[in-house]
Amino acid sequence: MLTEGVRLRAEELAAEGKLPAYVYDLAALREHVAGIREALRDGPELFYAAKANPDPLILTTLAPYVAGVEVASGGELAHVRRVLPEVPVAFGGPGKTDAELAQAVAEAQRIHVESPYELERLAALRREADVLLRVNLAGERRGAALAMSGPFGMDPETIERCRGILARAPWIRLRGIHAHLASGLDADTLVRQAAEIMDWARAWLHGTDCADAPEINLGGGMAVDYGDPGNRFDWARYGRGIAALARPNETLRIEPGRAISVYAGWYVTDVLDVKKAHGRWYAILRGGTQHIRTPVTKNHDQPFTLIPRDGDGPRAADVPVTLVGQLCTPKDVFAREIPVDRIAVGDVVAFAMAGAYAWNISHHDFLMHPHPTFHYLDL
Ligand SMILES: *Cc1c(COP(=O)(O)O)cnc(C)c1O
Repeated sequence: MLTEGVRLRAEELAAEGKLPAYVYDLAALREHVAGIREALRDGPELFYAAKANPDPLILTTLAPYVAGVEVASGGELAHVRRVLPEVPVAFGGPGKTDAELAQAVAEAQRIHVESPYELERLAALRREADVLLRVNLAGERRGAALAMSGPFGMDPETIERCRGILARAPWIRLRGIHAHLASGLDADTLVRQAAEIMDWARAWLHGTDCADAPEINLGGGMAVDYGDPGNRFDWARYGRGIAALARPNETLRIEPGRAISVYAGWYVTDVLDVKKAHGRWYAILRGGTQHIRTPVTKNHDQPFTLIPRDGDGPRAADVPVTLVGQLCTPKDVFAREIPVDRIAVGDVVAFAMAGAYAWNISHHDFLMHPHPTFHYLDL
């Protein structure tokens, strides 16, 4: 699981006193996204959802392989425009301010409209804009890690109100429909969901100006398995499934984030103390979940590899160990009760699957510990 390149860099960083650190394996990222592109060759256009990880070097590594980038705020839009001035950008997300709408009109190629009121405010700018209307279809999203029910997009009743607004604002070009309904779905479930979205979108768009050449954005949400990092989303199966549903006049698009960048990132740190409390063994690591909030938000064990080093401090052997950080809160847990052969002060711990929703979703300054250092393999 731990590649030789990441292991060597982790050992160097430990020797140089540069832990905790994020290590991004850009060669692995390039290979992974190239494989996704190949699997989708007859399928949808691939956009990358920047919110998963907007690190500039992640973005520039992905750029040759993606058709565009999806952003969810004015901040992300400005950032992506700076890093990748030429790449098409789609701007989605609830609660866009008037300033963000004006910025989107000037700088984004597509705007995903979240409500009739947002469409009215966009229309009031009296500027040309290409929009997809975001629909929120009902239905239980069985097996989803995160169902996007609630305030995202418009339900089929509400979206009807957009027809009149569009009719009065001919400077706004309706291009099609957007739907991002759930995260954490496998290929077959996502293909079934895509079929549902396409049926609905084709019927709704019938008779509109874009009916001859509609765009349908199917969202992201491809599953990753933190319990088994080797169990990857079946992109080939998904690509075939979507290709079988597509019609020649349509442009289909997807915008995954997590399943693209998650495997390329590692949070590497080392063991500061090992101790037993009330019958349980703990290893206390440099840093904490203020650097990688993922295991707390998802309530999972972050997968890791131990790299033993020859320390002479406290150790534990052949016991389940809970890995925690330096924060003064019982929530600062990376992984619980994981059986280990041995773990000792000074050992290096490389947490895998830290390339998405990790550093950028974390509360970096809680307790004012130093930030991690950042390193990139295969620049
Ligand atoms: C978060 C988000 C995505 C990406 O979701 P992943 O689970 O990271 O693939 C795509 N589209 C929208 C609208 C989102 O909010």
